[in-house]
Amino acid sequence: MLEPATSIQYVKGIGPRLAEVLAAKGIHTVDDLLHYLPFRYEDRLNPRGIAELRAGEMATVIAEVRNSGLFRTRRMPIFQMTAGQGRARLKCLWFHGTYLQDKFKPGQMVALYGKVEAGRNGELEIIQPQFEILGESNEEGSADGPEQKLAASLEIGRIVPIYESAGNGRLTSRWFRRIIRTALDNLTPDLPETIPSAVRRRLGLIAPRQALEDVHWPDPGESFSDLQAFRAPAHIRLIFEELFFIELGLELKRREQKAQTGIAFRLDDRAREAIKKILPFHPTAAQKRVLKEIAADMEKPSPMRRLLQGDVGSGKTIVAFEAAVIAIENGYQVALMAPTEILAQQHYFSARRILENAGYRVVLLTGSLEDDRKREIRRHIAQGNAQLVIGTHALIEQRVEFARLGLVVVDEQHRFGVLQRFKLMKKSGDAGSKGPVGPALGEPDVLVMTATPIPRTLALTLYGDLDISVLDEMPPGRTPIVTRRISDDRCDEVWDFVRKQVAAGHQTYVVYPVIEESEETELKAAMKMYKELDKKVFPDLRVGLLHGRMEPDLKEQVMRMFQKGDLDILVSTTVIEVGVDVANANVMVIEHAERFGLAQLHQLRGRIGRGAAKSYCVLMTGGKISEDGERRLDAMVRTTDGFQIAELDLELRGPGEFFGTRQAGLPSFQVANLIRDRELLEAAKREAASVLAGPNAEISQEEINRALRQMRTRWQRTYGLVEVG
Ligand code: ADP
Ligand code: MG
Repeated sequence: MLEPATSIQYVKGIGPRLAEVLAAKGIHTVDDLLHYLPFRYEDRLNPRGIAELRAGEMATVIAEVRNSGLFRTRRMPIFQMTAGQGRARLKCLWFHGTYLQDKFKPGQMVALYGKVEAGRNGELEIIQPQFEILGESNEEGSADGPEQKLAASLEIGRIVPIYESAGNGRLTSRWFRRIIRTALDNLTPDLPETIPSAVRRRLGLIAPRQALEDVHWPDPGESFSDLQAFRAPAHIRLIFEELFFIELGLELKRREQKAQTGIAFRLDDRAREAIKKILPFHPTAAQKRVLKEIAADMEKPSPMRRLLQGDVGSGKTIVAFEAAVIAIENGYQVALMAPTEILAQQHYFSARRILENAGYRVVLLTGSLEDDRKREIRRHIAQGNAQLVIGTHALIEQRVEFARLGLVVVDEQHRFGVLQRFKLMKKSGDAGSKGPVGPALGEPDVLVMTATPIPRTLALTLYGDLDISVLDEMPPGRTPIVTRRISDDRCDEVWDFVRKQVAAGHQTYVVYPVIEESEETELKAAMKMYKELDKKVFPDLRVGLLHGRMEPDLKEQVMRMFQKGDLDILVSTTVIEVGVDVANANVMVIEHAERFGLAQLHQLRGRIGRGAAKSYCVLMTGGKISEDGERRLDAMVRTTDGFQIAELDLELRGPGEFFGTRQAGLPSFQVANLIRDRELLEAAKREAASVLAGPNAEISQEEINRALRQMRTRWQRTYGLVEVG
């Protein structure tokens, strides 16, 4: 008997070598294998007779290969195969089908699936059909052993599951069909039900065992369109189950955080006055609303766990400073953490301008400081002299001791996932409890700021543990950014344009994808192009270079020069993506724009359009552009709306990569798809909350405990070391 947790190498027909191939697909256990769902189905229950086909319909045909061959037209090679049933013929064509040579042998039975079309001489044909070779035709008199019978019964006369192949095509859809059948036949009969019955009833969920059976081997009566849409009862059960246990973990986390003793900050008239005093401008309505939400959290005795979402340039920094003032006025310290040193420095400059001038004590603690200086700053922090401490995330990692840490602001851009944040918050808690003096300190409040507009579905999963505030309004006085794409053989025109803008008193960014030119690629590297722009193209202008591998001191120096207007043009890699804020810069030229991700392009563009002057983003492209590349560039030209861009980015890259890799802490899904399964996700979130609300007439404590145990096992397995509950 196979248990769900059994390693797949023990499934008959797999063994250690194939187990390795499957591991590359993320399939390690029997459970993983059983959750390797068909990506579509074919209705071979009623395969069609060729004679009855009509042009325009989608059809499955099972027929015998008669002949096949490659012929070349002036435009491309075309592979043709003729399949037959008795006297009826069906022509199949594959453009550029060279790879199919030697694939078909006369007499083989094949299943074909595709759209039937009328060919030139009235003959029916299928262009580029999906196909599967079923085996030798019986006419050939091949021995019909039990193996073949089994294979045949899995492939014909039913709704057949189609799987993505693995191991470079070695493990075919047919192979998966047989191996999954074997696994199901040997699977232990009792798969415990871990979803409480009331939830099951509300959603009409079928039993787990049934779901696994049906998803791979649907009943003949099953709605074919539901199957194709991943909406058969079996799909709903499996998808909901996956989402439910993720949401249960997040919800539990959220509850635990809320249950801790936090700090009830007081927002009295004095604090209000202090906030007003630091404001260099009138806040937008959105900034006011968001501050209210944050302040309300801070006044509560439970710790704040809030996400502040706002597009680049929406003005998150000042909101963070306002929250900092509340904490400081209450006698607490604030830590502000940025993902990079450059951004930490940027925050430090703003904080000095805005907060230090108002009499608050601000320090910057980064890795690049001299050791002596670091020690001194640490002492200030430990003694409580430093009121706002700005640094990178190393602040938390290195266990800087605070005297009275009250608020942690994490400026995460789009670099973090849910898991890293859990760790971060846990550590913020540890840091906060070290107070040597005064009453026992509560858990500090945490405000996470992100510049990536997150589609609601993703926000629900990734940030399900946080309350969410959205800055959905840009500060006034912005002029829209004009975005154009242009091929890099017209760069002279671009440089002329830059020259005119500089003559008008503005500054320009020129961004490159890499630092040094590598031999294999023809990418213009920042370093080399810097020399060329500086010496040849703009010898009369002041050109600076900024990249990630420079000494921090130098970086800072260059950045300051650009900020003060002592440089006209800043040549840079994507290090400027995060947070650099120079209102006078109104042109951004991005070379090899086709190489950048959509979110990254959007972030980069957010560096301009910050002042009153009209701004221009020039996307230069060179060489061949992929289809996705085209869509990215097209989206950039079409819209500056971060949410629209995020939705498209999610669609193009899929949730897995939207936030970077799995290491970045994104829950990765076996069967769910956040775009398709939006509604089930919301249902899962709702049901998770209802379960954690405690036992009632419908849900017993026993059921809740079982669900929680299952949730922990899953989280442990999927996310490794993360502790939940
Ligand atoms: P982000 O949300 O990307 O961190 P910032 O906080 O850096 O945005 O703000 C972008 C720019 O807008 C900064 O120069 C900031 O001073 C300015 N700004 C923010 N809020 C306002 C406002 N209400 N009115 C005018 N300018 C503002
Ligand atoms: Mg910012």
